[in-house]
Amino acid sequence: MDIYILNVIPYNETMIFSHCPTCTLKTLEYDDIKRYYCPECDFTYYHNPAAAVAGIILFNNKLLLIKRAKDPGKGKLDLPGGFVDPGESAEDGLKREIHEELGIHVTSCKYFMSLPNTYDYKGIIYPTCDLIFEITIETFPGEWEKDEIEDVILVHPASAAALEFAFPSGKAAIGSFVKQRNLS
Ligand SMILES: [Zn+2]
Repeated sequence: MDIYILNVIPYNETMIFSHCPTCTLKTLEYDDIKRYYCPECDFTYYHNPAAAVAGIILFNNKLLLIKRAKDPGKGKLDLPGGFVDPGESAEDGLKREIHEELGIHVTSCKYFMSLPNTYDYKGIIYPTCDLIFEITIETFPGEWEKDEIEDVILVHPASAAALEFAFPSGKAAIGSFVKQRNLS
């Protein structure tokens, strides 16, 4: 059993379990990446990245950004989007999130790129794989979900690099978009 002891990493803030949820063993094995394993009862959990979606939404060649109303990243800018639900495609998840947040019915979205990210919510750090899609809208949203969104703004895509974003993945995706489309 000594080998397990050698592999145990002391509990730290990046871990989501301090002990085994099944048998309460304190020396839960963690690979410091994603795998939790209990050598006592065989409890195994992989904290795999969650699929998240975000839209580079263009309105009259301007980029639509939201100012987040809650943490993580409260008061900072973000691309509209959210987590994909179980049983849902990335496209449907993005359309649902945009409808919930901005009241917009998106009919088509085009895949652009993906980036890794982390989402720190109430002490649990969720690794995510952010799938970014390009969307063009014809009508600016008249209202939005106030619990989630403090404000909705339009910026020239090239000027977004100077703004403060909640997550590096959103900013990086816009940077790639500006570069690829020669929008600077
Ligand atoms: Zn256990």
